[in-house]
Amino acid sequence: MPPEPIVAGSTIGILGGGQLARMLALAARPMGYRVVVLDPDPQCPAVPVCDEVIATPYDSVEGLDRLAKVSHVVTLEFENVPSTALLALEQRVPVRPGRKVLEIARDRVLEKQFLNGIGVATATWAAIEQEQDIESAIHAVGFPAIIKTATLGYDGKGQRTVNSERELRSAWARMGHARCVLEAVVPFVCEISVIVARTPSGEQRAFAPFENRHRDGILDVTSWPAHIDTELSAVAVSTALQISRDIDAIGLLTVEMFVIAQASDRAAHVLVNEIAPRPHNSGHLTIEAAPTSQFAQAIRAVCGLALGDVTPHSPAAMANLLGDLWIGADQKERTPHWARAFDTGAHLHLYGKHEPRAGRKMGHLTALATSADAAMATAIAARQALTLN
Ligand code: AMP
Repeated sequence: MPPEPIVAGSTIGILGGGQLARMLALAARPMGYRVVVLDPDPQCPAVPVCDEVIATPYDSVEGLDRLAKVSHVVTLEFENVPSTALLALEQRVPVRPGRKVLEIARDRVLEKQFLNGIGVATATWAAIEQEQDIESAIHAVGFPAIIKTATLGYDGKGQRTVNSERELRSAWARMGHARCVLEAVVPFVCEISVIVARTPSGEQRAFAPFENRHRDGILDVTSWPAHIDTELSAVAVSTALQISRDIDAIGLLTVEMFVIAQASDRAAHVLVNEIAPRPHNSGHLTIEAAPTSQFAQAIRAVCGLALGDVTPHSPAAMANLLGDLWIGADQKERTPHWARAFDTGAHLHLYGKHEPRAGRKMGHLTALATSADAAMATAIAARQALTLN
């Protein structure tokens, strides 16, 4: 028997109070839920839109006790929640997604072992956990390769491209000889992501693939639908559905993939890069472009409600707004011309972060149009307009 749905009037606890928690809260409150976030920063982005903030470290006994006491379900906006915190919470309140999913998703070694174990293809890789692993890793992967720390890497942090054994050894030393993976550089045609929702009773629904372009390892722009054929789209979606089911993810699971063209028959196929058990930056455009946004779908999934329609209303594109926009050529802080974004027809989202820093995600723009390319042109024009003199 699936558990009873968690309905309006109940309280949703969220570990982390950044922009994902803010947009989850903005989706949950109109459905009648109370939202409580736990975040060490009392001024985190979710504060103005939630009912209570527990401003303690993630492993604070008092903070976790309060969260467990007031919440009917706990979800999260990032995977690096300490296991001790999850253990303490899960004895008192449903934590969705659960500890197993998080422990796999936050460790690149466990993640790749899991994916390959269920028959999902990834880039060729090898673990580097000690000095002796280097030679066998080079033998397995070759060059060029990317070395990534097994844990705590995101937005391109904690990774480096290496072209020789000397470069690899020095990169690993700079990473403090941390546990790492060495991955072959994938000659991808494009990058896509699929966001799947899954309820406690096993119902699943996936958004069609998003196409993502990164700059300096950080997501720059997304377009929807992706420029891939229907057959490849179906393969990407069924791969994501399989992973969500096999890992037993309740809530959202985002699967980031590389699309590669195979030399033999030119038919494209996908390799999974990584998984994230939460809403994802590539899904932000669903707020305007789909009947059910990724955030509303996440709330439905963790509360055990029927999942919503994810058929796009319209092609769309999203452009991220990083802290760099606030920094002028003279290195002085400036305020972007917000009104101009609206002149282009784009939709502006700001996360309420107080300190703009280079590379920090401060907001995004979404544009809708009759094609993904036209939407992308508008989103990019809107972003440029913000800083034109
Ligand atoms: P990650 O932190 O693993 O998501 O990597 C961030 C970005 O770096 C990816 O979205 C890709 O653009 C690029 N990247 C990561 N791994 C590889 C790889 N094995 N081959 C080519 N590009 C990669």
